[in-house]
Amino acid sequence: MIPLPEGPVPATADAVIVGGGINGLAIAYELARRGMKRLVVLERDYLGSGSTGRCGGGIRQQWTTAENIRLAQESVAAYEHLAGELGLQTFFRQGGYLMVTEDESHLDSLRKAVALQNSCQVPSRFLEPRECLDIVPQLDISRLKGATFCQKDGTAYPFSVVWGYAKAATRRGVRIFIRTRLLEVRHDGGRITGVVTDRGEIATPLLINCAGPWSRSLAAMVGVQLPNRQERHEIMVSESCKPFLDPMVISISDGIYFSQSMRGEIVGGIGDPDEPHWDRPAQFDTRSQLRFAVRFARALTAYWPPARKLRLMRQWAGMYDVTPDHRPILGGVPGLEGYQMACGYSGHGFMLAPMAASRLAKQITGGEPDAIIDSLSLARFSRGDIEADAFVVG
Ligand SMILES: Cc1cc2nc3c(=O)[nH]c(=O)nc-3n(C[C@H](O)[C@H](O)[C@H](O)COP(=O)(O)OP(=O)(O)OC[C@H]3O[C@@H](n4cnc5c(N)ncnc54)[C@H](O)[C@@H]3O)c2cc1C
Repeated sequence: MIPLPEGPVPATADAVIVGGGINGLAIAYELARRGMKRLVVLERDYLGSGSTGRCGGGIRQQWTTAENIRLAQESVAAYEHLAGELGLQTFFRQGGYLMVTEDESHLDSLRKAVALQNSCQVPSRFLEPRECLDIVPQLDISRLKGATFCQKDGTAYPFSVVWGYAKAATRRGVRIFIRTRLLEVRHDGGRITGVVTDRGEIATPLLINCAGPWSRSLAAMVGVQLPNRQERHEIMVSESCKPFLDPMVISISDGIYFSQSMRGEIVGGIGDPDEPHWDRPAQFDTRSQLRFAVRFARALTAYWPPARKLRLMRQWAGMYDVTPDHRPILGGVPGLEGYQMACGYSGHGFMLAPMAASRLAKQITGGEPDAIIDSLSLARFSRGDIEADAFVVG
């Protein structure tokens, strides 16, 4: 049990972090670890109730932009010792990521991506289709044109990571208020002065927006326009079967991804280009759809025929917070002192969060300006400094 405070929120805080998902909790922990006191996290529902508790738990370093590769690479290094650091099992397992394609025209970008990843010391490699059978023996490779593989990629259990960060942050004095909603932000002459919640007001000079798919509407409260849009994505879990699958398999052709959990279940999802894009929380609809189950089952059995015998046990949906270049938005905005954000993870916030949080906390607590945070700032869109990451799957 994590001891969470009850009753009204404190009247003052040195920082208020909005969002009890992986980002808000990791940033709270990292700030506290660096000596910041009087930190408050606000979560309107339960911890992990946003995208984090609905995600596939995949962690990969196979990206096409240097910033995503670096953040993921550093996050993998963090995940390797996170359980010990946080004092809670994270179920992090480096079974690798096998990225496959059925499309000849992707081969060049796969090879270029491997070269960039290798230049960042990520040990990925290009594979011919038949070489995939050494990694997943029952994979149907008849339509595959090529693949890449990185053994150091893997998966972790999202709720354990969330609870681990919450526990470690609480131990360092962070006060996490669940079922507490931010209603309004007080700002005055270009700086943050406080927040209004449904459990009272907090005077604070620093507000950190980690509200995931809700961050666009939170930013709008302080006059910051984010280019993010929100997409609904579904995921499912099968009954358990004998362990056969070490890596996460993902296809950049049709957007399917699937892995096997430690309990033997197949966990996976598939993107759907016909899903609507939303920009207002009132539009979010996370009900399950038969359409997804059919699309996923067809794609899964095409890649891995033995899945025909498996029963689907549960499916659920969550939201991606997607930026125009599929890279997160980190840091502040000029002219608004005391406002920071970590959002727009475009379906990859679970894997990028540990190091994004660490870098952001370091910068906030007075370290040197961070080059990766600068290149991922909101200002990049007005600078026209945009390089989209091509390996967005799901
Ligand atoms: C189906 C699916 C599969 C995914 N698979 C992966 C994967 O394999 N790997 C990966 O890296 N990423 C994956 N993702 C993406 C990942 O889940 C997100 O990028 C990540 O969890 C974002 O974390 P977060 O903390 O920023 O946001 P969230 O987890 O959404 O947390 C934001 C929190 O803010 C709270 N909040 C919002 N507004 C308020 C308010 N006004 N007051 C108080 N609290 C508020 C919300 O309740 C929420 O809990 C997946 C996402 C989905 C939907």
